[in-house]
Amino acid sequence: RPTAVIVGVDGSAHARAALFWAADDAARRGVQLRIVHGMGMPLVMAAYAPPERYTASEEVREAGQRVLAESAASVAESHPDLPVAVVLAPENAPAVLLNEARGHDVIAVGTRGLGSVRALVHGSVSVRTSAEAPCPVVVVP
Ligand code: ATP
Ligand code: MG
Ligand code: MG
Repeated sequence: RPTAVIVGVDGSAHARAALFWAADDAARRGVQLRIVHGMGMPLVMAAYAPPERYTASEEVREAGQRVLAESAASVAESHPDLPVAVVLAPENAPAVLLNEARGHDVIAVGTRGLGSVRALVHGSVSVRTSAEAPCPVVVVP
């Protein structure tokens, strides 16, 4: 796979900001934009629910598909010629982003997401992804 800009989306305004940055960056570089969504259980919920049941939920899958479709549609409006791929994966977000990324890619995420712990500067996805990625990670405010 050639170089790509990979962006994680969760339906939040933060992720939307990351999406716009990523689309502009991919267009600038002349590379594909890969929009990914992880359906896996966030780490903070691991204590409360069994992962299999959470991931199997049809609601979770449909919500993920909706978020990806909305994201791809808004990119198609602003960057009609940009090659775009969407990826819906069963893992949690950091795992999906890290699985997708090669050393020559760029990953974009928002500072935070749908989580409600506003005291945190960065959400757990941005922290874990930037800590473990094989490529540069842009955390978009
Ligand atoms: P936490 O989830 O740790 O409670 P949070 O929801 O505020 O905190 P994160 O989930 O880390 O923050 O979100 C930061 C960014 O990570 C989002 O703006 C988005 O770009 C990306 N992201 C979050 N969840 C997903 C997901 N399920 N799939 C893909 N990308 C995601
Ligand atoms: Mg989150
Ligand atoms: Mg958080």
